[in-house]
Amino acid sequence: MDLELTEEQAAVRQLARDFVDREVTPHAAAWDRAESVDRGIVKKLGDLGFLGLTIPEEYGGCGGDHLAYCLVTEELGRGDSSVRGIVSVSLGLVAKSIAAWGSEAQKREWLPRLCSGEAVGCFGLTEPGTGSDAANLTTRAVRDGDDYVITGSKMFITNGTWADVVLLFARTGAEPGHKGISAFLVPTDTPGLERREIHGKLGLRGQATAEIVLDGARVPATAMIAPEGKGFSVAMSALAKGRMSVAAGCVGIAQACLDAAVDYAGEREQFGTPIAQHQLVQELIADIAVDVAAARLLTWQVADHIDRGLPFATESSTAKLYASEAAVRCANNALQVFGGYGYIDEYPVGKLLRDARVMTLYEGTTQIHKLLIGRALTGTSAF
Ligand code: FAD
Repeated sequence: MDLELTEEQAAVRQLARDFVDREVTPHAAAWDRAESVDRGIVKKLGDLGFLGLTIPEEYGGCGGDHLAYCLVTEELGRGDSSVRGIVSVSLGLVAKSIAAWGSEAQKREWLPRLCSGEAVGCFGLTEPGTGSDAANLTTRAVRDGDDYVITGSKMFITNGTWADVVLLFARTGAEPGHKGISAFLVPTDTPGLERREIHGKLGLRGQATAEIVLDGARVPATAMIAPEGKGFSVAMSALAKGRMSVAAGCVGIAQACLDAAVDYAGEREQFGTPIAQHQLVQELIADIAVDVAAARLLTWQVADHIDRGLPFATESSTAKLYASEAAVRCANNALQVFGGYGYIDEYPVGKLLRDARVMTLYEGTTQIHKLLIGRALTGTSAF
C-alpha cells in the first residue's frame, strides 16, 4: 500500500479542510445547542462535490476513489459529526447503493439530485424491535397489482426528517430471516409515510434523526431496488462500505481531540508552567496521538482494499470497531487535559465526547463487530 496521497487526493483533502474550518467548525457548537445544523450546508456540500464523491460522473458524481472519500469524511468529522453523518448516509449508504444495485431509471432519477444536494437520502433498516438483529425486521411490503403496500416502522433514521427518499428494507417473502427481505426507494412524500423527529440525543444533536412510520404507503413495483429477496444483501453491502466512512469520521473526531488538547496544554498554566510540561499530561496527549494514527491507518487500509477490488468486510469491521472505541478514548483523554473547563460546552471536547459515543453503537455495535471478526477468523458464528 502506497501511503503517499496523489495530487488529486491531497487537493480534495485541502478543499475539505478549508471548507470545514470556514463553514463548519465555527458553527458546530451553536448547531449542537440548537439541535439542528443549518440546512443550507447540504447545498454547499453538494456544490463541492462531497455528496457525489465516489459516484460515476455520468450520474452527477465526481468518480473519485474511496481514499478521497475517507479524507473528506475525516475532515467533516473533525468539524462536526452531525454534518459528516449527512454525507455518510446520503452518499455512503443511499447513493452508493443506488449506483451499485439500482436500475438505469433509478440511477437517472435519484443520483444527480443526491449528488448535487437537491435531494437527501436516508437509510431505513433499524426498527423499534430489531437493531443488531436486523435480519428479523418486521416491516412488510405486500404486492397489490403493479404496486407494493408497505406497513411498519423504522427507528433512529439519520437524515430522517430531511430526506427526500428512504432506502427502505421490508419483508416481501414468507421466508424467515434475511431471505424474505427486499429493498425499496420510497419518496418521503408518499401518502401513508409519517416522520417524527427524535429529540434529546446525547450527541449528534445537530442531526435530524427520526422515527419513520409507514401505514399502507403505496409505491410502484419499480421502486424495488435489486431483485426481490435481495434486500438484505443491499443493506449489508452498503454497511460494509459505510463502516469505513464511520471509521473515517471517528478519525476526524480523534484528530480534533488531539488538536484541542495540544493547544490547550500549551496555554493553560498550573504550578507555574504550561500543563504541557507535566509528564502525565504528555501521556494523555501521546495516547491520543497513537490512537489517531492507528485508526487512520486501519481506515485507509479499507479504502485501499475497496479501490483495488480486494475483500474488505473484515477490515471494515476492524477499522470501525477500533476507530469508534479510539474516538471515545481520545475525547475522554482530551477532556481530562482540559480539566473542569472540558466539562462545560464553551470548550469543544465535551461535544466531541458526546458525538463519539454513538459511533460504538450504530452501523453495528462494538459487540457485533467483535462477533463478525470472530466469525471471519474462526469460521464459527456466535450470533
Ligand atoms: P440492540 O441491538 O438492542 O443492542 C443492545 C445491546 O445488546 C448492545 O450493547 C449490543 O451490542 C448487544 N447485543 C445485541 N445482540 C448481541 C449479540 N448477539 N451478542 C452480544 N451482544 C449483543 N439505523 C438505521 O437503519 N439507519 C440509520 O440512519 C441509523 N442512524 C442512527 C443514528 C443514531 C443517532 C442512532 C443512535 C442509531 C441509528 N441507527 C440507524 C440504529 C443503529 O444502527 C442501532 O441502534 C444499532 O444497530 C443497535 O441496535 P439497537 O439500538 O436496537 O440495540
